[in-house]
Amino acid sequence: MRAYNFSAGPAMLPLAVLEQARSELTDWGGSGMSVMEVSHRGKAFVACAAQAEALLREVLGVPDDYKVLFLQGGASAQFDAIPLNLTQPGEIVDFLNTGQWSTKAIAASKRQGLQVEVIADEKASNYTTVPAPGSYQVNPAAAYLHYTPNETIGGVEFDHIPASGEVPLVADFSSTILSRPIDVSGYGLIYAGAQKNMGPSGLCVVIVREDLLGHARSATPAVLEYAGMAASDSMLNTPPTFSIYLLGLILAWVKSNGGLTAMAERNRAKADALYTAIDDSPFYRNPVAPNARSWMNVPFLVADPALEKPFVAEAAAAGLTNLAGHRSVGGMRASIYNAMPIEGVNALIDFMADFERRNG
Ligand code: PMP
Repeated sequence: MRAYNFSAGPAMLPLAVLEQARSELTDWGGSGMSVMEVSHRGKAFVACAAQAEALLREVLGVPDDYKVLFLQGGASAQFDAIPLNLTQPGEIVDFLNTGQWSTKAIAASKRQGLQVEVIADEKASNYTTVPAPGSYQVNPAAAYLHYTPNETIGGVEFDHIPASGEVPLVADFSSTILSRPIDVSGYGLIYAGAQKNMGPSGLCVVIVREDLLGHARSATPAVLEYAGMAASDSMLNTPPTFSIYLLGLILAWVKSNGGLTAMAERNRAKADALYTAIDDSPFYRNPVAPNARSWMNVPFLVADPALEKPFVAEAAAAGLTNLAGHRSVGGMRASIYNAMPIEGVNALIDFMADFERRNG
C-alpha cells in the first residue's frame, strides 16, 4: 500500500515515476546495469543528463541565455555559493526576509563578508505575511535582491514577483519550483533543491543568466563555481547520477500530465480544498495571511497542543504520514507537492473532520 506522504522533503514522488525507475533498475536501456552503475562520462548517461536539462528548459520555459546547472550540496550550499559567484567582499546585497529559509540565506551572505540590507522583514507578523509590492525600496547599488518565493516551514508564498528594477533578482525556489508556471526571464538566478518537486535529494538545480557568470571570487570551490560547472556541463566531477536520471523521469511525467499550467490547476484545487476545510472549522487554524498562503506547505494548529501528537500518530496509522510541523515550530504541516493527488488531500480533510468530532 502507498501512503499519502505529507513530508516537506524529501517528499512524495509520483507513483508512475517510481514504477518506471523500478522497472529499469537492474537493466537500464538494455545495458544490463542500473543507471547508478554506469560511468557519468559514458554516452548513455551524458544523453540522460542532456535530456533532463532539455526537458527542464522546455517545461519551465528557460530562455537560451540562461545556463542550467546540476550541483550538489543542496540549496544550502547555494546560500554561500551565490555570494561567492556573484559578489566581491564588501558589496551590497538586498534581502526580503519572510522566514527561516530567508534568514539562513541572509546569515550566509553576512558570513561571506557582504553588506546585507534587509529591505523588508516580516517579523512584525511573526512571518505570516509577504511584503506588499511597493512597500520596500531596492538599492540600485545592490549586487542582487534575494527572496524566498515559498517558505517551506512557515507555509508563506509570494503572490507576486518582487520588482527589482535593474538589480538581478535571485530566488530560492526549493519548495515551489514546478508547482506553477514562472517567467524565468524575470530572474537573474533561480535555485532549488530537488527533493520536493524534482526528485530525490542530492541534486540542486541552478538556473542563471549568462551575463552573471565569470565574476566568481578566486577562492570559490571549483564544484560550486558556476562558469566552470557550466563549461563542463555540470560534470567537472561525478554528478549525482541517479538524482539527475529521476529528475528526467519526473519532468517527463509533468509534461505528459499537462505541464505547469495543469500542475498549477491541480495544486490550486488541492490547496483551496485544504484551506477551506481549515477555515470552516473552529478546531483548526492556519495563521498565514490569505494572500500569502502556500500552495505547497500548509501548516495548521489545534487549540490544545497536547492533541498534536495523537493527531500525527492516528493520521499515520490511517496512511497519512509525516504530518508533524517542523521541529522548530511544532503544530502540523501538510506538504502537498505535485505528486500528492487530490485523493490524498481529501483523505486528510476527512481524517481532520473525524479527529475533530472525536476531540473537539
Ligand atoms: N530553502 C528552502 C526553501 C528549503 O525548503 C530548504 C530545505 N527544506 C532549503 C533551502 C535547504 O535545502 P537543502 O536541505 O537541500 O540544503
